[in-house]
Amino acid sequence: MTEQIGAGKRIGILTSGGDAQGMNAAVRAVVRTAISLGAEVYAVFEGYQGMIDGGAGIRRFGWDDVGNVLHRGGTVIGTFRSKDFRERAGRRAAARNLLANGIDRLVVIGGDGSLSGLDLFRTEWPDLLAELVEAGELDQEVADAHPALMIAGLVGSIDNDLVGTDMTIGADSALHRIVDAIDDLASTAASHQRSFVVEVMGRHCGYLALMAAVAGGCDYVLIPEDPPEAGWEERMCAELARGRAAGRRDSIVVVAEGATDREGNAITSEQVRQIIEQRLGEDTRVTILGHVQRGGRPSAFDRWCSTWLGYEAVRALLAADPGSEGHVFGIRGNRVAAVPLMDAVRNTREVSHLIDAGDYTAAMAARGQSFGVMAQLLRELTEPSRITVNEAGKRIGIMHAGGLAPGMNTAARAAVRLGISRGHTMLGVRDGFPGLRDGRITELAWADVEAWTADGGANLGLRRTIPGIEELYPIGRQLENHQVDALLMIGGWNGYQAMYRLHDERDRYPAFRIPLMCVPASIDNNLPGSELAIGADTALNVIVEAIDRIKQSAAATRRSFVVETMGRYCGYLALMGGLAGGSERVYLHEEGITLAQLNRDIEWLRRSFARGRSLFLAVRNERANEEYTTDVIARMLRAESGGVYDVRQSVLGHQQQGGSPSPFDRLMATRLVGHALDKIAEQLDAGADGSYLVGLTGSRVKDVPMGDMMSLMNTTVRRPHDQWWLRLREVVTAVSDEPEPQS
Ligand code: ADP
Repeated sequence: MTEQIGAGKRIGILTSGGDAQGMNAAVRAVVRTAISLGAEVYAVFEGYQGMIDGGAGIRRFGWDDVGNVLHRGGTVIGTFRSKDFRERAGRRAAARNLLANGIDRLVVIGGDGSLSGLDLFRTEWPDLLAELVEAGELDQEVADAHPALMIAGLVGSIDNDLVGTDMTIGADSALHRIVDAIDDLASTAASHQRSFVVEVMGRHCGYLALMAAVAGGCDYVLIPEDPPEAGWEERMCAELARGRAAGRRDSIVVVAEGATDREGNAITSEQVRQIIEQRLGEDTRVTILGHVQRGGRPSAFDRWCSTWLGYEAVRALLAADPGSEGHVFGIRGNRVAAVPLMDAVRNTREVSHLIDAGDYTAAMAARGQSFGVMAQLLRELTEPSRITVNEAGKRIGIMHAGGLAPGMNTAARAAVRLGISRGHTMLGVRDGFPGLRDGRITELAWADVEAWTADGGANLGLRRTIPGIEELYPIGRQLENHQVDALLMIGGWNGYQAMYRLHDERDRYPAFRIPLMCVPASIDNNLPGSELAIGADTALNVIVEAIDRIKQSAAATRRSFVVETMGRYCGYLALMGGLAGGSERVYLHEEGITLAQLNRDIEWLRRSFARGRSLFLAVRNERANEEYTTDVIARMLRAESGGVYDVRQSVLGHQQQGGSPSPFDRLMATRLVGHALDKIAEQLDAGADGSYLVGLTGSRVKDVPMGDMMSLMNTTVRRPHDQWWLRLREVVTAVSDEPEPQS
């Protein structure tokens, strides 16, 4: 049994302010983690208003009260902008009603408004209690027993505006909505050679607009943090015209709702439309996405991340003592970070002040390093001519190898366009290393990669082949014949091994003494030097959508499912898919499967169905165990069902490698390739031939010398020694393994 740090403690959970996808995942995690740790948990309905109204506005929640909510948008416990809570009298009533239920620990999921209200409530708490005692509305003993309100905040906001964390709850799903819409618009716009102006949410924060413009392959963006200089109308139109002349069939401008010029005058989407229509004589349409950005199913990221945040917030809150100050929990570089609540709110509001004061440099800096990098990358991606006039422009080969991963095309497009804008000649190597050996190498022009952003698959082709000794000589000849100065491989483990082989043989083959760069792309997410690989997020979204459908298919029955994910020996997809899909069990190669474990699971399952469960879901990684296959586990479950439930298995298969890349995969592809080209330039400028693995460590793009590659990997099972996501195992257990009633 887990440590019962929650015994005798009561937690309240509420959602407040604007709703966001993923709030339900957080509520579910808070409720279940609290129960797993022995605490009692109460849902407060309709935000702060539920505390003020009391009565049925505050309800004890059990495990099943948050069943079947993970896939829903919005918030199942309601949200509200409570005017009463802004008044001291409202907050006094709230304190009274919380204590009537014995609650003195509170998790609030909301925006900066909700969180500053929460902090005020916490600060006033002792005085509010004194007033209640004075007025005869509260017993002194009760007040003495709850001297402080202990709080934890989670940021629910599609804007991604909280300073100090990477992502807020809902931002990734909103980006999905926007990028889907842009993809749809791009196809119709391209057919008619039309222009579109797309307005997205973000009054003070340009995150959604900027990232959607990069991920959607758009031409121009207007954001509050970086208003354009005077004369921008002309420059924008000239840029759109250059893009058209270079082969673009559509133009898409993204406008954040809070966009202004440098004088602080609003720039509306209608204004932008008129400018384009008048100056370029183009048929131009406006699409205002509005509330669809908030709606719909949460993305895989918003489910697993919110679940993790809810879990960590509750653990911290149950460990808090009356002296503890409140924290906001957010994701920072694939870790959960706790930021002092008022610092987070203050820093977030400070950005709006900086914008109002016209200090745009500081406003951009406050958004974090990668925000500025993305803004620069967008400028380069949209510029068809050479920004850097580079007399000594180099010839850079790009290729794919390994298994297919969604986002490879996005990465190839980014490499071609960034490379050209930096003055290089970009060479496409077709069909992996066999293609390199056979000299299937052609120059790629700016327009050749048009519309590759949203394409799944790999238009350059790819193979898993690692070149044999006899192929090294012809490969060297081709590199020389085509005067390749550097080689960039975007692909999976076989591609990494192939590059390593070239690197390893450079003493014998001088042609290999050029910078060799690997950029990770594999749905398995098993590559060295990077915590995430391009394609894994898309695959996770495919898995989560499949699980949603599988669960629905069982609506009217009592059924157990065993779902098998890809990943070879790496359990990333199974663990994260299980976490985001709401599975009861995950089976991973990293942990192995034993008969004793299966026995315990089957016994638990039987008792659980006897208590009224109607659905059970296990996610098994394809190579979790050679003997206990998906089929064997499904048969064992069936054999032991006693006729109480039926069993189905579902092997998800290759759909996981297909589909249009998710916004996150597109952004990561762009960023990693941008860094790889920087690194190539650094090496070539220095006359060096350093070779590197490019990757994401935390929220930073980094590179590791290729010579270190083998030491990072467990080559037998083709996965890195260090797998950061395994720490989420305990989160899966806390939210899926319902504690059994004590007899
Ligand atoms: P968000 O949390 O999304 O930023 P709001 O700013 O509208 O949304 O805040 C949501 C609710 O939080 C408000 O309706 C109010 O109940 C409460 N709230 C916000 N600011 C304060 C404040 N300064 N004092 C007390 N309550 C506040």
